[in-house]
Amino acid sequence: MSTAQLPVPAGHGTRRLALAVAVVLGLALAVVIAVVTPWDLLPAPAGGRTPVDPSAAFTPAQIARAEDFAAALRPASLASLVLGLAVSAVFGLTRAGAATARAVARPLGGGWGWQVLLGTLAILVVGRLVTLPLAAYGEMVRHRYGLSTRSWGLWARDVATSTAIDAGLTAVGLLVLVALARRAPRSWWAWAGGAAAALVVVGSFLYPLLIEPAFNRFDPMPASPLRTELFALADRSGTPVQDVLVADASRRTTALNAYVSGFGSTRRIVVYDTVLDQLSDAEIESIVGHELGHVATDDVLTGTLIGALGAGAGVALLGWLLGAPPLLRRAGATGPGDGQVVGLLLLLVAVGTLVSTPLQNLVSRHVEARADLHALDLTDDPASFVAVQEALGVANLNDPDPPAVWQWVFGSHPTVAQRVAFAGDWVKEHGG
Ligand SMILES: [Zn+2]
Repeated sequence: MSTAQLPVPAGHGTRRLALAVAVVLGLALAVVIAVVTPWDLLPAPAGGRTPVDPSAAFTPAQIARAEDFAAALRPASLASLVLGLAVSAVFGLTRAGAATARAVARPLGGGWGWQVLLGTLAILVVGRLVTLPLAAYGEMVRHRYGLSTRSWGLWARDVATSTAIDAGLTAVGLLVLVALARRAPRSWWAWAGGAAAALVVVGSFLYPLLIEPAFNRFDPMPASPLRTELFALADRSGTPVQDVLVADASRRTTALNAYVSGFGSTRRIVVYDTVLDQLSDAEIESIVGHELGHVATDDVLTGTLIGALGAGAGVALLGWLLGAPPLLRRAGATGPGDGQVVGLLLLLVAVGTLVSTPLQNLVSRHVEARADLHALDLTDDPASFVAVQEALGVANLNDPDPPAVWQWVFGSHPTVAQRVAFAGDWVKEHGG
């Protein structure tokens, strides 16, 4: 039945069009990123920039501890990444993906829809299981260094929850893609690209409402001078908030964090309970000032639109790649409308995600620096800003001096030493 009504493979003309659209959207993406990224935030002070020096922010013992932690964790993270890609490659570039999709769909009649849904779930669950020992090792290291406070039961629940959410959403996404390819064999990638872009936008709005509560409880911060001051800070920043919430993060971690989520009338400040226990009010105001900086410059919205453009470009590229006979032959699929294509699809998505990571982080580091600048301008309290960076660095065991390549690929924020040096430049500019 699954082979009885295979869609006509797209012709060369539509493949070339898909590639052309991917190139145009990719160029548009590059232009948007070049224009909206705050490349240069603070002019170099007259006396020269403040040197980036980890030993200015941390004691030798703190540096040694953070470096030991990174040395224990980094090889496992890298191994997990490589192993995950290897699993994707096996399912995407051999007949294993097609065979898996057929096998799991057979008890339900073997239709293309079941092949996509159950095949995706099966492949993603296998990938998760293969990397599970490395994830458990990572959790063990975080336990040993006191960063994780999760029980193994809660860890298992978290892994199961995130895998289920991830695999479920991916399966539905791929189902829509393959369904479109069957209905519109020539133009499916254009429809799917538009749908993917729309999904990025909708997902960004729904994430705080649907996903966050799956992991944490949020309670309004009890009335206190701090709560009052945080509302005032948001007003001064020009972005009033509806509420200040406390997340029960200490169930899982000793890490410190705060963020602002929601839009307009649903905007709220969320502070980890760990932050309330460990930081002074002035330091918490500095963290929240940073988060309000993201709100002031609409960083979530900009990031979402860049993500939507990237998703559109990525799907157009899929439209080109999934018309390539050698790739399809290797994967044992006849085209993007064949349910047995899921292994190849998942591999291409994994590679696309990996390739876009350094670019996302390059933009992110500059956007984070701009939020730091907002915190400094808003609170006019560089001492608390530096104290927070140091407290965050120590509590979160951030590597004070990561290898440059690692920071370039995986660093979503400037390093603590860079952020402290940035505050030094700000002080030179504003006379402390
Ligand atoms: Zn930030």
